[in-house]
Amino acid sequence: MCKKYIKTTLLFLCSLLLLTGCGNITTTSTTDQKAVSSQSDTQSSAKADNDTTDLKSNTAQPQKNDSDQTKDSNQTEKSSADQKSSSAQTQKNSPAKKSNTTQSKKNSLSKKSASNHVANNSSTTKTSSKLLVHFIDVGQGDSILITQGKHAMLIDAGNNDKGTTVQLYLKKQGLTSLDYVIGTHPDADHIGGLDVVIYKFDCKKILLPDCTSNTATYRDVLSSMKSKNYTATHPAAGQKFSLGKAQFTITGPVQKYNSTNDNSLSLRLTFMQSSFLFTGDVTQNAEPDLIAKNKTLQADVLKIAHHGSKYSTTSAFLAAVSPKYAVISCAEGNSYGFPCARVLNLLRKNHVKTFRTDEQGSIVATSNGQTISWNTSPSTSWKAGESTKQHTTSNRQTKKSSSNTNTSKKIDKNASYVINTSTKKFHLPSCYSVKKMSVANTQSTKASRSELIKEGYSPCKNCNP
Ligand SMILES: [Zn+2]
Ligand SMILES: [Zn+2]
Repeated sequence: MCKKYIKTTLLFLCSLLLLTGCGNITTTSTTDQKAVSSQSDTQSSAKADNDTTDLKSNTAQPQKNDSDQTKDSNQTEKSSADQKSSSAQTQKNSPAKKSNTTQSKKNSLSKKSASNHVANNSSTTKTSSKLLVHFIDVGQGDSILITQGKHAMLIDAGNNDKGTTVQLYLKKQGLTSLDYVIGTHPDADHIGGLDVVIYKFDCKKILLPDCTSNTATYRDVLSSMKSKNYTATHPAAGQKFSLGKAQFTITGPVQKYNSTNDNSLSLRLTFMQSSFLFTGDVTQNAEPDLIAKNKTLQADVLKIAHHGSKYSTTSAFLAAVSPKYAVISCAEGNSYGFPCARVLNLLRKNHVKTFRTDEQGSIVATSNGQTISWNTSPSTSWKAGESTKQHTTSNRQTKKSSSNTNTSKKIDKNASYVINTSTKKFHLPSCYSVKKMSVANTQSTKASRSELIKEGYSPCKNCNP
């Protein structure tokens, strides 16, 4: 009976090979032959049956049993690891985080079907023929990496203390150069980490809006560019660029505004039938101009402007974009109250599937040109942020950006350390050098010693924190 089974399986495999001539199948069938030849009891026979079924369905989906769905705290990471092994392309995804929240447990329960979806897509298309959009979790701020084949582009790099995070994320994707580096606008939560990226990567084209700032953060970006003899281009609305097989059009700013946020470079990226709109921190002041001046703003995925703040994303703007998906990039427990309830309600009412870096960590969208798949399920919490004046809500994020509105040096009483974003040193709050630091470079943080070192900070030699 055993021999008969092997014969039938081999016959089936041969006919499949003849039919498809696909390299993937050859690899899988070798594994299967092993499985079949090693079978000695009914259990392994059942396993071989499963393997054959996998072959039939032509997926690279690894064997999973229901015990994978146990409710242990590593569930999210496990599911995400399953996704990684199920396709070459998702190896690039960073694992979804925050596994101890109810939300991610809920999400992870539906992960299996999500990963099946990814596997099915990837079995028919090569990575080089896909577009990947990574919304990197940089806490309070934006950083978006887009890759198409060997081509890569970075939009923003988070706050001053996130340069290393972004650098490591890019390195993990095997990147050494970037076709485009875009700083949407001079606010610290967007261009703060850009100097590190410019120092560390070969940047072919740097796009910045035609507006300057007198912050130390902005000067850092300029000096990093100068050190490598780079000059920035200020693209005009309507200008088109290509990124491998993808194209993008600058959608704004369409005029000069007084507010830094409204001067955000925005762009619409298309890859065959799929489209993405990136809006920086544009507010409702500039949204009508974007609608009026652009032929289309329609996009499958909308990067919600200004971290979901109440000043952006009017219903008219959302109607003009009419997205299937939205991504909000903000920090868990941020003091600004991002995202606001109005924007969340608007998205919910319009059945826009919404992803959030504060709840889900880094989020990766993969387009095969027709459909878009995700490394995680959409958030279902619809939980608005709460605005607090003091920066005491989160113990995960480094506090207070060196924004141009910060005029006095505020050291959080509960802070464990004070960091200098310029020298990359960290101090005890009592260290005398803290008093001498410039306001723009001073940030208090509740991060641990090891977290800071991981982010590229070194301890002050005087206070020995
Ligand atoms: Zn801004
Ligand atoms: Zn921002």
